[in-house]
Amino acid sequence: MSPRNRILPVFIPHLGCPYHCVFCNQNAITGQDYSASVEMVRNELKQAGCRQDMECVAEPYEVAFYGGSFTAIPEEVQKEFLSVVQPYRKSGWIRSVRCSTRPDAISLHNLSFLREQGVETIELGCQSMVDDVLFRSGRGHSAGDIREAADLIRSQGVHLILQMMTGLPGSDPDKDFLTAVRLADMKPDGVRVYPTVIIRDTPLYDLWQKGEYREHTVEDAVSICSRIVPLFHEKQIPIIRLGLNPSDELSGGIAAGGAYHPSFGELVYSRVMRNRAEDILRNRHLSDVTELHVAPSFVSKMTGNRRCNLEYLSSTFSGTVFRVVPDAFVPEWDVVVPLQKG
Ligand code: SF4
Repeated sequence: MSPRNRILPVFIPHLGCPYHCVFCNQNAITGQDYSASVEMVRNELKQAGCRQDMECVAEPYEVAFYGGSFTAIPEEVQKEFLSVVQPYRKSGWIRSVRCSTRPDAISLHNLSFLREQGVETIELGCQSMVDDVLFRSGRGHSAGDIREAADLIRSQGVHLILQMMTGLPGSDPDKDFLTAVRLADMKPDGVRVYPTVIIRDTPLYDLWQKGEYREHTVEDAVSICSRIVPLFHEKQIPIIRLGLNPSDELSGGIAAGGAYHPSFGELVYSRVMRNRAEDILRNRHLSDVTELHVAPSFVSKMTGNRRCNLEYLSSTFSGTVFRVVPDAFVPEWDVVVPLQKG
């Protein structure tokens, strides 16, 4: 992370959440079975070297309240958390605050209070834009609530990050793609895309065990995300996270099934490049060796893990061997196949 984006995360697992969304176990994901207290935030700030009595001499931090529904916490508690940060905003060590929350916990009153306290970014957990999927996931709000909350947040000049999931109960690739289209229409400042992972001690784990939920495999997730990623790129919406952050807990067995892979983003970006090459290669005359020209930073994405993309293309376009060529004239995400003689 560049020093300009220094984030001081404060985990408040499930704090404020009025329902238990079927897929969610924030304690397992954050590796923290308690919520940070106001005193802990104070200590974190001190340990990070922030000072109240001295002007900032380093890149300032952004404090990020993650893992719960910040705006659904009683307002006095929100105030207590945010009041700890204020002296450090004055001395310049904290430049802003961000929080994640639910769409049905956003109001004009709350937004103006948050802005006064330095909250510049809200990450809104949307998960799906299909009401039936939201209902079956135990979200307790509708797609209409998401649109209203997003409009309100944008109208108050607060940066908006939208989070979506793929492979939730009742969803399918078309519904996941539709969700991405609808999120893009809301013109967020960024998105996070999380394929569903079956975490132990969740209602989803029980549904899966009873055979009432079909696992969203890594391959399912790579396939749908490789359709979603180009859509957000086209609309110039930054994807700030693709897949759950890898952790010892998740890799150690808390992720019982579903689309967990420590290098999930790389798998998807590699598939995006493969799809692109495949589109271009169809209807082309190919000789024995075909060159795929890509931006130098995209060579490994085009090649794929253990050359899987090249092997796939060779078996799809049988008789042709593929070679990836770094080419500084090719834009990122593009593939150029030079015309071949003969
Ligand atoms: S998904 Fe969000 S709202 Fe639902 S239980 Fe988890 S933290 Fe709370």
